[in-house]
Amino acid sequence: MSDSNPNPSRDCVVVTGASRGIGAAIAVALAQQGRHVACLSRSGALPAVPGVNEVLAARWIGLKADVTQAGDVAKACRQLADDGWRVTGLVNNAGVHVEAPSAELTLDTWNQMMDANATSVVTACQAVYPQLVAAGGGVIVNIGSFFDKLGVKRNLAYCASKAAVGAITRVLAVEWASKGIKVIDVAPGYIQTDLNADAMAPGGPLRAYLDKRIPGRQPGTAADVGALVATLFSPAGGFLTGETIYVDGGQGIAH
Ligand code: NDP
Repeated sequence: MSDSNPNPSRDCVVVTGASRGIGAAIAVALAQQGRHVACLSRSGALPAVPGVNEVLAARWIGLKADVTQAGDVAKACRQLADDGWRVTGLVNNAGVHVEAPSAELTLDTWNQMMDANATSVVTACQAVYPQLVAAGGGVIVNIGSFFDKLGVKRNLAYCASKAAVGAITRVLAVEWASKGIKVIDVAPGYIQTDLNADAMAPGGPLRAYLDKRIPGRQPGTAADVGALVATLFSPAGGFLTGETIYVDGGQGIAH
């Protein structure tokens, strides 16, 4: 891993759900670019990633915030400002996945999924907005899912919540462009994390299915998503805004 730090300032990027999985890999990739990363989760734990050196880990700030609690992300942003940090970016990664047959989906489960996966994106974007405007602009990446364009049995609430992420991304990209704020939806395919560890393990039911359905015949890794997100924060992200970028090994377009 690179130890160079081209960005030694007090700028930082807020990543929600950064204690493990895809969020932790995003925190690694952004730190490898020399960025400071405010790692938010309910536990406030720093990313659990084996083999990360002290130089990278020193670029992480762990903060507790439950994205489903209105005001938690705003409070974390105020804390960062009080500590002298300037927020210049946000990655809305925290999310949950619960399956249920559509006819039996309870209103509680529907609300839980929409709160965690969609409403939280709106409230977190609103929370960082004043600091991004004060900084002269910034980058927001929302982690959606390739389920946003699929009809997946037992996933009514999850598919709807991730489709909402795409819509939120498009509206904010257009509305906040004049403030220099770019908003992009990164929509992963199946990525092996705690969210699906048992089903995706070799021999697990989901793994056997994926071996047939992903053209590359490999589930993606959290690092695949982290690398893409970091690219969007670099000059290579340049003219891109409002789009949904699928990172799914071609599964979403395979027939
Ligand atoms: P994990 O379950 O592995 O990790 C979830 C992370 O989010 C943890 O850091 C957890 O930390 C945090 N978190 C969960 N709920 C909250 C909350 N209410 N407030 C703050 N933090 C929270 O998930 P993944 O890494 O697999 O998924 C990350 C994102 O990627 C999700 O939005 C998911 O929908 C999306 N995605 C995942 C895919 C996959 O195949 N894994 C495919 C497509 C999209 P803590 O428990 O400490 O709060």
